[in-house]
Amino acid sequence: MDCLFCKIVDGEIPAEILYQDDQVIAFRDINPQAPFHALVIPRKHIATVNDIADNDRELVGHLVQAAGKIAQQEGFSEDGFRTVLNCNSHGGQTVFHLHLHLLGGKPMGWPPY
Ligand code: 5GP
Repeated sequence: MDCLFCKIVDGEIPAEILYQDDQVIAFRDINPQAPFHALVIPRKHIATVNDIADNDRELVGHLVQAAGKIAQQEGFSEDGFRTVLNCNSHGGQTVFHLHLHLLGGKPMGWPPY
């Protein structure tokens, strides 16, 4: 399968890894949209939010919890942060391997357009 983020998981494409465990890895986004911008992804290939199966629920919970741990590790959990899951074209998804954007280090605007 020709998936960019699977290649990062497999170490075929370099990335600045910030966190990893047996289920997820997190790395810095190549085109940051905030002072801190990382992507938290499952090691397992899941294309979009639409493809999350019932037996992925624990994995997705683990993914979100990992984002919180990274925010704590980076020192901005108390100030707060933004997490985003883009899905398909209206969501602005460009890489079709599930990824949670973790953005921090400044106040975020709302709505996001
Ligand atoms: P999406 O638009 O699919 O929600 O987000 C994809 C994200 O992946 C974008 O923020 C983009 O900057 C990031 N990205 C794309 N290619 C690479 C890459 O090769 N390395 C890293 N670290 N990030 C990437």
